[in-house]
Amino acid sequence: MIGSIGPACTGCGACIASCPKSCISMEERELGHMYPVVDEQMCVGCGACLRACHAARPFEQGAFEGRAFAVQAIDREILEDSSSGGAFSLLAAEVLLANGVVYGSRWKRGEGASHVRVTAPGGLDALRRSKYVQSDTTGIFGLVKGDLAAGADVLFVGTPCQVAALKAFLGSDSENLVTVDLVCHGVPSSAFFEDYLLWFEKKTGKSLIEYNSRDKVAAGWSYLGSYRTEAGPRSALPVDDPYVLTFNQSATFRRCCYACPYAGARRVGDITLGDFWGVERLHLGVDLDGGVSVALANSKKGLNFLNRACANSAFFKEVRFDDAARSNANLTRPSSLPSEREEFADAYAAGGFPAVASLAARRYKKEILKSRFKRAVPTSIKRLVKGAV
Ligand SMILES: Cc1cc2nc3c(=O)[nH]c(=O)nc-3n(C[C@H](O)[C@H](O)[C@H](O)COP(=O)(O)OP(=O)(O)OC[C@H]3O[C@@H](n4cnc5c(N)ncnc54)[C@H](O)[C@@H]3O)c2cc1C
Ligand code: SF4
Ligand code: SF4
Ligand code: SF4
Repeated sequence: MIGSIGPACTGCGACIASCPKSCISMEERELGHMYPVVDEQMCVGCGACLRACHAARPFEQGAFEGRAFAVQAIDREILEDSSSGGAFSLLAAEVLLANGVVYGSRWKRGEGASHVRVTAPGGLDALRRSKYVQSDTTGIFGLVKGDLAAGADVLFVGTPCQVAALKAFLGSDSENLVTVDLVCHGVPSSAFFEDYLLWFEKKTGKSLIEYNSRDKVAAGWSYLGSYRTEAGPRSALPVDDPYVLTFNQSATFRRCCYACPYAGARRVGDITLGDFWGVERLHLGVDLDGGVSVALANSKKGLNFLNRACANSAFFKEVRFDDAARSNANLTRPSSLPSEREEFADAYAAGGFPAVASLAARRYKKEILKSRFKRAVPTSIKRLVKGAV
């Protein structure tokens, strides 16, 4: 039964959706992460949960066998509203043009991040930009199955484990389905993120009316996002923000993230999207301030679709995989488990997010100084140095 999955569980919820006795529910554990538990009294031992679980099947890593591209959407509005080069929006527009369906992650205050079904361009805005928190996929895989059975074209975007979970749930591939996995650093829980927002409001004494994990307009094309309170304009998050710090240091991720089988050159989706960090080294002649996506076509279907969506709507140039992966560690290996993770888990259990914030300020003094220094150096100089390497 699914109890045997242990720390490899990614919390996808496919076991819950497949249980004929509805006897699996989620329970909160360390750092707010949710894990399935079985009501032993009701379980009939049918094994459907294990059969639907992607974590029960090995995903072997291997060499990259696809093709890699640099992508930047021509449409400046889309580009501004996207995390990197806006590749996701181009893929989504292509599917909606054919009356298809797009599945991606939306975040709402109080509800957290969750996957939703979108059928019109107006719905795409909520999906744009990365949310640096686990997105809930409960009930979503059944909807995808229904759309495919009705003959609709479907684009599913998520972390690699979510794509693997969908594939395991469906059991077989469909010509109408294009899957997109993101290069993934790891995920904190929704509960942890909500606690952080409450801490943030208490600290500033102001209510948040907007929060973005990534925001190019306020913070440039970087790992930083933005916030807006009722009292001011949209501002970049500070480099000593404890959520940003603990995310970048991989201190609060779900346990499975530190041994993620999908973090490597062999990808689970038809297409992979990420930030093309280090693209300045390639001197491609693309506007670097606008942000650039790396797009990997991992299957023939993925390559055809990527070509259709990007050839006329984007700066679209083939590159070598090694160049794409050079500054993007999670294209070759999972995030390392830091020695301080237990300390953060204990701090959160004992004192909630305020205790995490104090620990981060003490623990990450050097990293804060380094980030301050990096932010103080003009981007043009940083690029000049990197471009010369
Ligand atoms: C948790 C997380 C960690 C990441 N880590 C890295 C990294 O280490 N290196 C790297 O190169 N790229 C990473 N990315 C991917 C990167 O941030 C961009 O999503 C990617 O470059 C695509 O950008 P875009 O401009 O094409 O699209 P965007 O407009 O930014 O589109 C975002 C897409 O991602 C989906 N999405 C957003 N948040 C989530 C979420 N929490 N869970 C599942 N799907 C989500 C949306 O549904 C949408 O389809 C990460 C993304 C996430 C969500
Ligand atoms: S990985 Fe998904 S299907 Fe497997 S046990 Fe965890 S929640 Fe259930
Ligand atoms: S073995 Fe069958 S009844 Fe028991 S939890 Fe799994 S799916 Fe549900
Ligand atoms: S690091 Fe791996 S296990 Fe963790 S959320 Fe990303 S894809 Fe899933």
